Amino acid sequence: MKILVINAGSSSLKYQFMESDGGEVFAKGLCERIGIDGRLTHKVPGREDVVREIPMPTHNEAIQSVLDIMVDPEKGVIASTDEIAAVGHRVLHGGAAFTESCIIDDACIAAIEKCIPLGPLHNPANLMGIRACQKIMPNTPQVAVFDTAFHMTMPPKAYIYAIPYEYYEKDDVRRYGFHGTTHRYVSARAIDMLGNPEHSRVISCHLGNGSSLAAIVDGKVVDTSMGLGPLAGFPMGTRCGDIDATILEYLMGRYGYDIKEMLNILNKKSGVLGISGVSSDFRDLDNAAAEGNERAQLALDKFIYEVRKYIGAYATAMGGVDAILFTAGIGENSIDLREKICTGLEYMGIKMDHDKNNVRGKEALVSADDSKVKIYVIPTNEELMIAMDTAALCK
Ligand code: AMP
Repeated sequence: MKILVINAGSSSLKYQFMESDGGEVFAKGLCERIGIDGRLTHKVPGREDVVREIPMPTHNEAIQSVLDIMVDPEKGVIASTDEIAAVGHRVLHGGAAFTESCIIDDACIAAIEKCIPLGPLHNPANLMGIRACQKIMPNTPQVAVFDTAFHMTMPPKAYIYAIPYEYYEKDDVRRYGFHGTTHRYVSARAIDMLGNPEHSRVISCHLGNGSSLAAIVDGKVVDTSMGLGPLAGFPMGTRCGDIDATILEYLMGRYGYDIKEMLNILNKKSGVLGISGVSSDFRDLDNAAAEGNERAQLALDKFIYEVRKYIGAYATAMGGVDAILFTAGIGENSIDLREKICTGLEYMGIKMDHDKNNVRGKEALVSADDSKVKIYVIPTNEELMIAMDTAALCK
């Protein structure tokens, strides 16, 4: 089935038009500066990219520009928008209500709206993308695929926070976890490569600008590092990860920050950027560290140290581990970081093959032949997972 996959942000909208069966991508692109002026970048494999300045006061014009370029006689890939069988939307927060993807109807929209307080930055933008598609393609079925859904199998002891229980009961305060579509895709690939054993314990390491780990037993998440929101876990590009809440009170008191300013610091100015003062990009950190920048090295050391701690914790939570998998920008591309994360874990049966690990951006088994735990690099394909869910629900 030919599916249009949409990932709508507040001022941008990514799209991919693809075949759900096999994953062939016919076209993909990006609308930027929505609400400001508007720019469309459209890519078709084997052709030159198209970049057009198109006024996009709202997401409606953005979606319309995507449809227009797709049916453009010269630059397009389809004769009519009727060839788009369905639209799959990435939605950040589904709360506890959504344990899987769902067809978008009034009840689904109401439930996504209800989750806005939990995902205040992303859910409204996701809804703008959904509403624009409903307006412009009213007869095309649409599906919501939630970043949180895959994590909803966590047991209460993993998702409950140790604060008064009433905040969970009345206000839905609990761990939700994110990157669920990626964790689902790569863990399914890993279980497949393990030979579909009856029992499997996988640690999925999504290491990118935003990062999270998930512990997955028999294909079901039992714990994950992100929490109520994506700020939790270990340090990321610019997010702090787990910190002592006392720090907030202390810094807010000292500098007179309000909570918005404080959260902006923790979301945008912390993580490896905050420690190094150099960059949130791990390639910049590698270069700076190689030139002797001690804070860049400290940021890298901190990241590696915390990821290793999570691996140890999740192996304990699962009573062992059969496979560790690396995905996303850093996980797929940083040979050095993968190596440093796994080195010294031989006592857990984790042994990397340094030659096999010399791989970037493609699926590979990188553990030594005699490693008890398999180590995989598995490029994520979130769009394919969204397209597959959308096709399955619309068939
Ligand atoms: P993502 O959010 O998945 O797009 O990942 C972005 C992160 O991947 C950035 O911090 C990049 O520095 C990092 N990354 C991409 N390629 C490499 C590489 N070859 N070595 C180290 N980090 C990389």
